[in-house]
Amino acid sequence: MSLQALKSETAEIHPQADVLKARFDALVAHAPALARTDASARKKKLWAFMAALLRHRLEIQEALQADFGKHPTETDFSEILTVTSEIRLVCRHLSAWMAGRAAATPLTLPGHRSGVMIQPKGVVLILSPWNFPVNLTFIPMVSAIASGNAMVLKPSEHTPHTSAVMARIVQSVFPANEVCLLQGGKEMAESLLELPFNHIFFTGSPAVGRIVMAKAARHLASVTLELGGKSPAIVDETANLKLAANRIAWGKLMNAGQICISPDYVLVAESQMEAFLVEMKNAIRSLYGDAISANMDYARIINTGHYDRLMGYIQHAVENGATLHCGGEGNPASRYIAPTMITGIGADSPLLEEELFGPVLPVISYKSEAEATAFIQARPKPLALYIFSKSRKQQDAWLNQTRSGGVAVNTTLVQFFNNEMPFGGDNNSGFGKAHGYYGFLAFSNERSVIRQQFRWSLSDLVQPPYHPWLQKLASILVKWF
Ligand code: NAD
Repeated sequence: MSLQALKSETAEIHPQADVLKARFDALVAHAPALARTDASARKKKLWAFMAALLRHRLEIQEALQADFGKHPTETDFSEILTVTSEIRLVCRHLSAWMAGRAAATPLTLPGHRSGVMIQPKGVVLILSPWNFPVNLTFIPMVSAIASGNAMVLKPSEHTPHTSAVMARIVQSVFPANEVCLLQGGKEMAESLLELPFNHIFFTGSPAVGRIVMAKAARHLASVTLELGGKSPAIVDETANLKLAANRIAWGKLMNAGQICISPDYVLVAESQMEAFLVEMKNAIRSLYGDAISANMDYARIINTGHYDRLMGYIQHAVENGATLHCGGEGNPASRYIAPTMITGIGADSPLLEEELFGPVLPVISYKSEAEATAFIQARPKPLALYIFSKSRKQQDAWLNQTRSGGVAVNTTLVQFFNNEMPFGGDNNSGFGKAHGYYGFLAFSNERSVIRQQFRWSLSDLVQPPYHPWLQKLASILVKWF
């Protein structure tokens, strides 16, 4: 579809505040009915959504190709399969998750039974980025439907073709008072953040995450922040260099490095540096060949702003004495940037400060474990950390001395694909968790329910007037319970 046609399809890109409020009110009015739905009704919706997603699979592939040259196979694995496998997992477990759970009751509360009841948060807002627009909008949506919420989805303005297809899919399955997908940019997001949502699930940059959290504070809306940062890869002296290079190159160059969990930079044991650089060049060649600019397996940079930013970082580093081992060149017309590996970077280079989010890999050698961990600890806690080491003892040492949202050992990226594990960051890389049960909980209120079964209760004794014997009882309880 041409951009012109797209624009007319999304003419309502920024409805007036009163129109937005009316849509929000419709969601609020319908939320109690959604909260009362049982697991089978929610699963039916999820299966219907999955059928619609698969019906639009080709359109999604074409849209992502138009938005930033993403290869259809990469779309299938990273955008479609991630969502379908999430739906399958949720539908397998939803009845058990919704049932809540019993909780133990302490001896000091005889005659009580305790439990945790699960209720939806109510009306939720999902704001998503452009780099995996389908997966990062629809996985949280699946969790929010599973938890029984009404919701607004606001995908990124930078993938207009994909957002238009997603809007059609959502409209074909859900009434607008249940799931409402609104297209638009920063202004639309700002208007939405004025509304008193019960929960905001934001995926994007730490800078915008701060804005979202400040806006949420005004309504005391809870937030899940899935942010980014500089995710390091460590290649120690015991690492299998060929394997490390292959998996780092794969993780760095998928989506042209525009992945929140891409290895941002590599720390390599000094003794391995030369051999690692050679293996990296071999790995890049074996993945993408010699004519990478003509290789359609390799994605393009999303827009000119990001293209200029990345080329500016490379130029700044080279002008300040860094060495290019491959790449460095680009084509502004197609927004192609060659896989770029760079060493000898000055400490003040943006390459070592900013999240790169592109196919540019700084490689830094370290002399000791302490030096490598100090380098990581001097930066905000990353979303991912990658360890390449054959020694289990050394793997544990790296794990114990670092912090991050998630870790993968001797591989990259795959932690995202196991939805039995929580996915999320730590402080600057975000907080709150997504995927599977953790995503379901993000959109639920765990409500504690305690029931007294008898007429008599120990708590009836702990009432004024406070006799001296009650003080003695308190002393015994403090000492022994
Ligand atoms: P972004 O923060 O610029 O935009 C994300 C969303 O916020 C978009 O929908 C956008 O329209 C909206 N937005 C932009 N400015 C806003 C404002 N001032 N107020 C309110 N909303 C606003 O992020 P991006 O460029 O789309 O994506 C790249 C970033 O996302 C990277 O930092 C990356 O690491 C991160 N990311 C994180 C994850 C994760 O799961 N943790 C996944 C993908 C991307």
